[in-house]
Amino acid sequence: MSTEVSDPQQRLEDRRRVSELLKKELQGFRCLVCKGIEFVELDLPEEDLQSKLMLYRGGDQTVGEYSPLLTIACTHCGRIEQFAEQPLMARVKAGIR
Ligand SMILES: [Zn+2]
Repeated sequence: MSTEVSDPQQRLEDRRRVSELLKKELQGFRCLVCKGIEFVELDLPEEDLQSKLMLYRGGDQTVGEYSPLLTIACTHCGRIEQFAEQPLMARVKAGIR
């Protein structure tokens, strides 16, 4: 089942809410490498940029579904962390903060 919606404006607003929710979840989070506390978001809803995890079925290289991700990078050491959008989007759609 896809979390994509056809209305680009609604999708943008939903992505903004997901971004806000992730920031809330990350309060107190420290980089696993350098223990840094500052991160930059790389998937920017306003610029329609989003990382996606490409899934393959079996060994035939047939592309399955794309799973949208949220990517952040530590501003000190550059370590990248990624989060699946789906659980956060489900909470946004359900009004759960
Ligand atoms: Zn770091």
